[in-house]
Amino acid sequence: MTAIPLQTLQLTDHRRDSAGFTYVYPVVSRRAGGVSVGINLNPNDACNWRCLYCQVPGLTRGSAPVLDLAQLRAELSAMLHDILHGDFMVQRVPEGLRQLKDIAFSGNGEPTSSHQFAEVVALVGTVLAEFGLAGKIGVVLISNGSLMHRPEVQQGLRTLAQLGGEVWFKLDRAPADGFSTVNQVSLQCEGVARRLAISASLCPTWLQTCMFALDGALPDEAELAAYLDFLGEARRQGVALAGVLLYGLARPSMQPEAPRLSAAPVAWMEALAARMVAAGLVVRLSP
Ligand code: SF4
Repeated sequence: MTAIPLQTLQLTDHRRDSAGFTYVYPVVSRRAGGVSVGINLNPNDACNWRCLYCQVPGLTRGSAPVLDLAQLRAELSAMLHDILHGDFMVQRVPEGLRQLKDIAFSGNGEPTSSHQFAEVVALVGTVLAEFGLAGKIGVVLISNGSLMHRPEVQQGLRTLAQLGGEVWFKLDRAPADGFSTVNQVSLQCEGVARRLAISASLCPTWLQTCMFALDGALPDEAELAAYLDFLGEARRQGVALAGVLLYGLARPSMQPEAPRLSAAPVAWMEALAARMVAAGLVVRLSP
């Protein structure tokens, strides 16, 4: 197994190979306020969506490959050992952020597209227990939510809930029947609503929403109203949402459309967050 290079992690450095591992990578996360250990189930850079803002270089359409679970377990154990008992923090993490915050299923594609997803969640639970970390750090699934209807994904969510984890379910705009420009995939509104309800029924679920301007145009009032209506209807249907993670463009897109994207003004993001709060939603804003 490759030794961890002695290079300080930066807040902007979310490369998946910074530890030299295949499946496990450390990042200093502004989101987490410390070190987040990422688990990448898509080392083949394959996703079933192609969001315009996606930060994965060389993204291709597809699913996760067959995973070597023994290797994944060994990598996670080595990483946690180095963080807890080695010199990882001193050598690689800026002062003030030397705290292990969470494990995040967040890789170069959609994690739940792995048919071994449920096994991996269980494996992570076992390794966390071995290190005495179970229930002490967060476990987050960052997902586009498109495969929540699969039984093995639902099993993984049940295990995630037992670990005290949470789902971050991607919802960038109100889903309309048809092609989503932002996510470059066909969606059905009813299907998105159903999958969101499944997720929230099995594990605490936050929405993750990325807002930006495309060709200089921010989402218009009709789009924002439709988005808020969709959330309102979900809550009327009894879907328990933990809240909304509202993001701007934190890092540059690696997709061909990158030059067409620009960040929304902070004041615009704050005004949208205020509307959500006024609608009764918990909002965490990262403009
Ligand atoms: S769902 Fe995530 S990994 Fe897939 S294209 Fe969108 S941002 Fe990239």
